[in-house]
Amino acid sequence: MGQSTSTPSKPQGWVTVAKKPRRGNLTDDDLKLIEDAYLDAFNLNNDEVLHHLNQEPDQPSTAVPVYSAVEEMLNNNGYFSMKLAPPSEYLQATEAALHPILHFNNFDTKLLGEDRARKAWEEMRPALSLVSAWLSAPEARRRFWHRLMFGVPTTDETGNYYLARSPLEDDFTGASETFSAELDNLAHNLRFYWIPSNTPCGRSSTSQGICFFNLKSIPDRFNKPLHDALRTRSNPAARKYLSAYAPRIGLSTIFLYHLLRPALRRDDRCADMRYQLAIAKTLCHELCHALYKSRLLPNTTEPHVFLRDQVPEVGLSFDFFLGGSRFDLRSGKSFIGRLDARTWQFMLSYPRIGAPVPMEWVGLWFRKDTWEAGREGFREETLWGKAPEAVGVPGPDVFIAHRYAPGNVAGEPGLFKEVLYVERKVVAPVQARGKVDGPGEGVALEEWYAEVSRQEVERARAEGFDEEELVGPWGGYEQSLTRSASERL
Ligand SMILES: [Zn+2]
Repeated sequence: MGQSTSTPSKPQGWVTVAKKPRRGNLTDDDLKLIEDAYLDAFNLNNDEVLHHLNQEPDQPSTAVPVYSAVEEMLNNNGYFSMKLAPPSEYLQATEAALHPILHFNNFDTKLLGEDRARKAWEEMRPALSLVSAWLSAPEARRRFWHRLMFGVPTTDETGNYYLARSPLEDDFTGASETFSAELDNLAHNLRFYWIPSNTPCGRSSTSQGICFFNLKSIPDRFNKPLHDALRTRSNPAARKYLSAYAPRIGLSTIFLYHLLRPALRRDDRCADMRYQLAIAKTLCHELCHALYKSRLLPNTTEPHVFLRDQVPEVGLSFDFFLGGSRFDLRSGKSFIGRLDARTWQFMLSYPRIGAPVPMEWVGLWFRKDTWEAGREGFREETLWGKAPEAVGVPGPDVFIAHRYAPGNVAGEPGLFKEVLYVERKVVAPVQARGKVDGPGEGVALEEWYAEVSRQEVERARAEGFDEEELVGPWGGYEQSLTRSASERL
């Protein structure tokens, strides 16, 4: 297969696959227009969010974290902490050592101002270092990035649109040089923005990042008047502005809260690693969208990167390549909780089931020696796709499921509460012990939960539970699921 494990280098004389219209087609005025449109689209005047980001003091280091009952139990039992080596043994790359995509000048400063934007960027240096490592790791290029960039869009006999292996992938060195060149192109053409989310430090799992490819892709809800004005410009080149490939990645301000208030992370380096991993994953997820789009393929629908992916979304493909599950960080103003790992079926659903990502797995990513030359095999065996507790069948030892607590005669409405199970027995909250059941021995967790949640959602509906909060398994992706479950790998 001609695979080499040499460290990918800068492109040297490798011919780029195709010459594509890039930034070169846009004048400085064009770019200014586009930048203004994005600034507006990202709605940088969200006073409430700015208030939270600007006004609240850093956490005093003596603050006691406020956990939910489930998080409290995990914390007390060591799921959030592990013995760490001295800080010098962990990633903290200099700016020059980071991939240029991640350099500070690619981060918009309008929301925070230059100084605080710089502070936020400095504080996420471990995450930036990790993204750089993910982008350059030979095994990640061979097993993920090259397929994303060179895979041949193909529709199989059951209607799945996916990326088939390209002959270009057989030449690892050549493919790697081309991929490096594509990354360099992107570094000149992409910017990151901080986009206000409704809560300063929320638990939303759906709004951590967003990637716009061009002005056309700015949804109407963000800035319809400007969008219409651009569309109807008398300038005959208006279409050029609208459709020029000018990717912009919005990162949610939920990540800023503890970046700008580092006390909590300084006191708890494990919490900092979970925070940094969540940021790194989001950056890379959105970069996947930008990179795939940069291929400028005629079919704008995203494919399954691999047939094993259960949903056609290139960012999610990376999430599952990374962890074998999709994970989101649970955090609040006074705590940084678990990374909650979920399977394809329940990653977006409400109610849902998930598992805490093991801290050992998180910590290993950030060790410098993990990234030493010759450790590709170690990373493949231990790290990529190996947050194993999250997705085991018949299921992990420790998992957390939303269970329905019905309304009562005192008029309290019914609601879904997190219940922590250890070895299939309810552990927390204590009130749930003996009241809710668990899966029987040998029963696959997802099958059990699919049925339990179906019944409990029915009951919640009957009691008037807010329909808008409910999202079924496969939330929103049902239509794209053309294969039967047995055909999925
Ligand atoms: Zn995505």
